[in-house]
Amino acid sequence: MINVEERVALMEFKSKYIAPVGADGVYVINTGDWRTVRPVLDQDKCIKCGICFMYCPVNSIVKEDGKFIIKYDYCKGCGICAHECKSDAIIMIQEAEK
Ligand code: SF4
Ligand code: SF4
Repeated sequence: MINVEERVALMEFKSKYIAPVGADGVYVINTGDWRTVRPVLDQDKCIKCGICFMYCPVNSIVKEDGKFIIKYDYCKGCGICAHECKSDAIIMIQEAEK
C-alpha cells in the first residue's frame, strides 16, 4: 500500500475539473459555482495526514511547500474534507453573498 507522500507524487493536480458527459464527450464543469459554504483550513491544527487531499472529489486540495491547502476554483463546498479531518482543522463557513 502506498503512503500519502507517494500518493501526492502520483496525483497530478488538474486545474480544471473535467467530467465525461454521456456520448457527447467531456466538459469542464465549474463546480465552484455550486458552493454555498466554504472550507477553511487551520494550518496550526493540521497534522499533514493528507486525508482531506485523498477524499476531495474534485482535487481541490493540493500539497504545496509541505502544506495542504484548499484551492477554491473548483471546490464545491461539499464538506467531505471537514467531515473526514480527524484533527478538526477544517471548518465550513458561509459563503459571502455573491
Ligand atoms: S485531514 Fe486535516 S489534519 Fe489531515 S491534512 Fe487535511 S486538514 Fe490537515
Ligand atoms: S469542500 Fe468538498 S470540494 Fe471543497 S475542498 Fe472540501 S472535499 Fe473538496
